[in-house]
Amino acid sequence: MDSNQRMIHWSAAWALVGGVVVCTGCMRGQPITQSGESFTHEVNCKAKDDIVSMPWAELHQILDQERG
Ligand SMILES: [Zn+2]
Repeated sequence: MDSNQRMIHWSAAWALVGGVVVCTGCMRGQPITQSGESFTHEVNCKAKDDIVSMPWAELHQILDQERG
């Protein structure tokens, strides 16, 4: 997958709101200061099994891929 496709995929699962990454499935958030930790979803989140556990790290990797 190229970086643009990965970014589209990432954007479908996550939103950045006021410096916090938010799961669009359950609307829980994680600040960048917790970027090294696995994301904590609401128990009933329908998206949690289908998306990456560390959204900040994934975003970093996408940017790295684009910049080379
Ligand atoms: Zn969630």
